[in-house]
This record gives sequence, structure tokens and C-alpha cells, in this order.
Amino acid sequence: MQHPLSLYNTLTRSKAPFQPLHAPFVGVYLCGPTVYNEAHIGNARGPVVFDVLTRYLRHLGYTVRYVRNITDVGHLEGDTDEGDDKIGKIARARQVEPMQVAEGYANLYHRHMEVLGCLPPDIEPRASGHITEQVEMIQQIIDNGFGYESNGSVYFDVPAYNAAGRHYGKLSNRVVEELLSGSRDNLAGQEEKRSPLDFALWKKADERHLMRWPSPWSDGFPGWHLECSAMSRKYLGTEFDIHGGGLDLMFPHHECEIAQSQACNHPTNEAQVWMHNNMITVNGQKMSKSLGNFITISQLFEGSNTTLAQPYSPMTARFFLLQAHYRSTVDITDEGLQAARKGYRKLMNGLRLLEKLVLPADVERAPDTEKGDAELRKLVADCYTGLNDDLNTARAIASLFNLLRKLNGFAANLATLATVSAVAVEEATTAYHTLVVDVLGLVDEPRANTEDLLRLTLEFYQEAKATKAYDKVDQIRAALKAQGIVVKDTKAGVDWAYSEE
Ligand SMILES: [Zn+2]
Repeated sequence: MQHPLSLYNTLTRSKAPFQPLHAPFVGVYLCGPTVYNEAHIGNARGPVVFDVLTRYLRHLGYTVRYVRNITDVGHLEGDTDEGDDKIGKIARARQVEPMQVAEGYANLYHRHMEVLGCLPPDIEPRASGHITEQVEMIQQIIDNGFGYESNGSVYFDVPAYNAAGRHYGKLSNRVVEELLSGSRDNLAGQEEKRSPLDFALWKKADERHLMRWPSPWSDGFPGWHLECSAMSRKYLGTEFDIHGGGLDLMFPHHECEIAQSQACNHPTNEAQVWMHNNMITVNGQKMSKSLGNFITISQLFEGSNTTLAQPYSPMTARFFLLQAHYRSTVDITDEGLQAARKGYRKLMNGLRLLEKLVLPADVERAPDTEKGDAELRKLVADCYTGLNDDLNTARAIASLFNLLRKLNGFAANLATLATVSAVAVEEATTAYHTLVVDVLGLVDEPRANTEDLLRLTLEFYQEAKATKAYDKVDQIRAALKAQGIVVKDTKAGVDWAYSEE
């Protein structure tokens, strides 16, 4: 590899070559969904980006353990310490178990991730399945003097943490005084806290609260921020390589995660590299329910949202998301999605021509292919340069198109393959396939509507019969039979049925 993989670290605000703590092992944690509703297209960006990151790390030879959690408890409305549990509220309204709500949306999320080409994480822990670990962590934080109980709830003591020489705000680059002045108005309903900066580690459940567990402090439930600290520690250790999430999670969620981990005597920042993917806008506006431009993943696939003129396939969506660098914003528009569909199909057409790139037997290879080989190898190297530069998939895709243009040129006139060696062509076609399919995860989608193709085939069958072209008739019958379809000549016309053999 000419360039090592460099990653931008939110914590240091700089890009640096990636050095795993315990090569060849790499631990990656991504904050997963809160399963109280259907994910919107903005929610798909993180999983797609970190899917490419883990695929690429594996391609580079690392042994990756990728953990992506499911939040099924503790995430309160408004992402604050007050208010209703997001899942519990839906459960009460529907008169079902909260776990039914969580299970249903988790299943839907998995189906969406699969068609979007996201490989399942190696471990997908659920917050409700790790209450013991969370209670243990809270006790440690209290024992170390960074947490206190108040009326059955437990809060993280931010002033005590800062007094001990730590810096709450280091990740999001915030100063405590500024945070304090901004939070004065929010004191209502937070009288249990010693400081408005403190955040909940454990909340005592009120009588309406459906999800509750016993603890030394009260029957209650863990704070949302705590679950990721506890679960990442369990599966990746007290310090691991990469922690990812959307930019909207940087504060307070990730800030609190670092504080909790440090308060447990881990001198680390939980992860050595913190990566944040940027947000998605729709026609230049922030996505929100009130603006009516809130597009769920199903709506995108079905085209059932008035913001969109038509449906877009999962692979088009994946290509669209990867066409931008993960740290820049992405604006969803019909034009953008249509361009993405075109680009995606172009890459797929490229895959189809790879095997055809063979020098015709009657053409002699040039005695010196050095120049041609160097040019081809440069095009391949450029694709890697993009990925190695902070996983810049936008640049990698642009370079893939340059490589494809070259390969298309060869395909249009196979004799021109004489200017390059067979080895260099093999390298280029292998790299193209590997980068498109294995690293970017862009694969062929089921093509045309099979129902329409079948109808068309039966029309040809009828034509062949009418012109007494019986060998054609037999050929069509045999071809369909091989697909498990039998042709039926009825009085009403030609029909088909599944073969029952
Ligand atoms: Zn998290």
C-alpha cells in the first residue's frame, strides 16, 4: 500500500495515520438505532459509512470486531434526562409490550440494512440485555467520587469530574462555563441534579414507566449515554480503536461516554479515534417532521413520499450516500438520486465487461508495455489514495470512473490491450471488482421485472407457434422448464404454471 490509511479524529481535530492498538486486531463501535420508529434516510448514512470502513479495514488485512448496538431502553424524548421513554410511549399508545415495539423496529432495521448492503455487525448488543454491566459501571463511578444518588436516581457529577483535572467538553470542544450559561433556562424539572451539567446514569422509574429493573438505588432504568460505555467496554475493552456515530451524537452522548469511561479509572478516551459522519438535508433543508420532508427508508425505496418523484433502489441509495465524503453534508434531491442511479449502473456495467478484457489471439502484444502498465497501475493506485485519505469514498468513486473509462476503452477495441501486459490488466480488473463489490459493497440488484420478461417470452412462443417454427417452440419450452415454468396451451390462449415435477 503506497499510503497508509489516515483517519480524521474528532478528538484531536486532525487527520493521522491509523495505528491499531493491538494490530492485527481492530475494534470498532458504532452507536446503533433507538428502535422506537422507522429509520429515516439520514439514519442510514452512519451504518453505510462504517460498513465501508470495516470492509476496507478487513481488505487491508485487519481482523475487525465490529459492534453496533441497539438502544431499546433509556433513550428519553428530546434526548434529555426528563420526559418519557421513546419506546415506552409508543408501547403505551398501542397497548403492547415495549419489547414488541423494539423487536418490530429492530427487525425492520435489519431488513433495511441488508438490502442496503450493510454486513451485520459481529456483535449487536441490546441495552436491555446489559443492565448488570451498566449497574456495575454506575457503582464504579459512584465509588470513584464522580456520581451521586438523588431521590433514587443517580447522576454523573460533572463539576467533580472537572475538579479532578478532567475536561468534560473535550470532544465537542466546549467550555464548561459556556455550557453552564446556556443551560440556566433548563433547570426546571432537574432539581435532583447538583449542577445542570450533570447527566443521568440511572433514573428511578415513575409508576407509568413500563421498563424497569431493580438496582441498589431504585427500581428504574439506565441512562442512554451509559449503555454505549458499558457495552463497548464489555466487548471491546477499556480502550479500543474507533468509535463512530453521527455528528448529532457528539454532544452530549459521546461527550458523556468519554466522561463515564474515564470516571471508571480508565485513563483513556474510551476509543483512540472518534469518527463522526455528517448530516443529511432534503432539498437544502434540515429533515424534520414539521417541514414534511421527513423521508423514511421504506418511503425512499417505494417512492411513497411527496418530496420524491419516484422510488429509488437500495443500491442507488448506497451509491448516493458514498458519493460524498462522510464528513460533508449530503443533500437529497431527485436530480441527485437520479444521477446516483446512473453512476451506480455505470459501475455495474463495468463489472460485466471485466472478463471480456482479453487480447484477441491474432493480435501480438507490444514488446514493451511498461508505459501502458504504469498508466494503468496509476489509475488503480488513485482509487486507493482516495480511500486512504480519511475514507474519502467520493474521491475513490471518481477514480474508479477514471479506471472504468480506461477499461471501457479497451473493451471497445480489444486490440488496444496489446499496449499493456496481461498481469497489469489482471491487477486492474481484480482491483476494480474488489473495490466496487467487496469494499464499497455495491452489488447487482435483481434486475428487470421477471413477470414482464415472462409475458414477453410467451409472446415469442405464440409467434413461433403461429409461424410453425416448431424448433423455436421447443427451445422456448425447454428454456422455461429449466426455470421451473411450464407453458400451457389452453383454449383461452397461452398461459404458464409452476412445474410440479
Ligand atoms: Zn451510543
